[in-house]
Amino acid sequence: VFVHLGFAPVIEVFDLNRKFDEDNSTCKINLGLGAYRTDDGKPWVLPVVREAEKRVVADENINHEYLPICGLHPFRQAAARLALGDNSPAISENRVLSIQCMGGTGTLRLAAEFLKQKLKFDTVYVSSLTWDNHVGIFQATGYSQIHEYSYWDPITKGLDFQGLTDDLKNATEKSVVIFHTCAHNTTANDPTEEQWKEIFRICKRKQLMPLMDCTYQGLVSGDVDTDAFPLRHLDSEGFEFLIAQSFSKNFGLYNERLGNLCLITKDRTVLDEVRSQFEFIIRKLWSNPCHHGARTVSTILNDPKLCTEWKEEVKVMADRIKSMRKLLYNKLIELNTPGSWDFISSQTGMFIFTGMTKPQVECLCTKYHIYLTKTGRINMCAVTSKNVDYIAKAIHDAVVN
Ligand code: PMP
Repeated sequence: VFVHLGFAPVIEVFDLNRKFDEDNSTCKINLGLGAYRTDDGKPWVLPVVREAEKRVVADENINHEYLPICGLHPFRQAAARLALGDNSPAISENRVLSIQCMGGTGTLRLAAEFLKQKLKFDTVYVSSLTWDNHVGIFQATGYSQIHEYSYWDPITKGLDFQGLTDDLKNATEKSVVIFHTCAHNTTANDPTEEQWKEIFRICKRKQLMPLMDCTYQGLVSGDVDTDAFPLRHLDSEGFEFLIAQSFSKNFGLYNERLGNLCLITKDRTVLDEVRSQFEFIIRKLWSNPCHHGARTVSTILNDPKLCTEWKEEVKVMADRIKSMRKLLYNKLIELNTPGSWDFISSQTGMFIFTGMTKPQVECLCTKYHIYLTKTGRINMCAVTSKNVDYIAKAIHDAVVN
């Protein structure tokens, strides 16, 4: 029965991890996976997460009973507040449904399922380029129309705002549009506040449904409120929209699979019905979510002292990424590497999108044991003060030869 299946397409970042693990070279570097590293190149369990976990484990009132289908209540409330802010009209008017999910991925999947099953959406627009799973998730959910809107300009290595707005103006009305709230993965380019306002004006005119992927909140500016500008703007303008939050990156809780879906409606009287529709779907997906990550994040966000500490630690991550950008840029300039590298500092978030060609990427991998996705995206978090010289020299060689 199973013999004719053959292999499914390779999942690139996990395949890179495998190749990296199997590589015996002492100079190998993994610039593929989007995970934070310390300046020693090690994973970082945030001290505030350690502290909260200690409290969770020590609490004898906590047990392993099932959570409600929509998850842990104090977590859900805190997650919505983190996205929409303390002065959110939608929260104060009780117009937000907040649902704990399985990672950012599960959150997006739930949004896709709900919009398709219950509201009959069948068309989605994703940015060109984007995180490839945006397409994968909507394909797997059965959307028949998956389109791209312009985003990346390879000439300027920046945002193609004209192309973006033109494409949204020509989009099919009442479609879903996925936006990256901040730290656009893969192009590392975000719209300015003025550009966001224009984008959302078009969404309103065309009755497009914004689905805001919020995976890197805090990791651009170091401030979670600043990075949430597009969400707060949508809220203040009275939009109906959805937010898919991930807690993998800004809490370093990658393997706890913690996410949260916020649905903001104009009419609070529908919330109970909408929640029941979500529960009906979730029951068949994961039935009810995991506890540990949600309890840990809830402990942090609902304790003013721990919350302040967490915000400081997010800033530590964002600042380290920024300083590595500067360092890598300076090294390439010192080496006189051909091309303009200004984009390294103008791009934002965890990644730089180098625009390197496939042969150049291959050269980094085969000659230097430096692993990165074939689009030429570099995870800046994996660049350290110790390996930056080696990386810069390798890039120089790949570009020159
Ligand atoms: N959206 C984007 C844009 C991402 O980059 C990622 C993670 N790479 C996700 C969603 C999924 O996050 P999670 O690991 O929490 O499923």
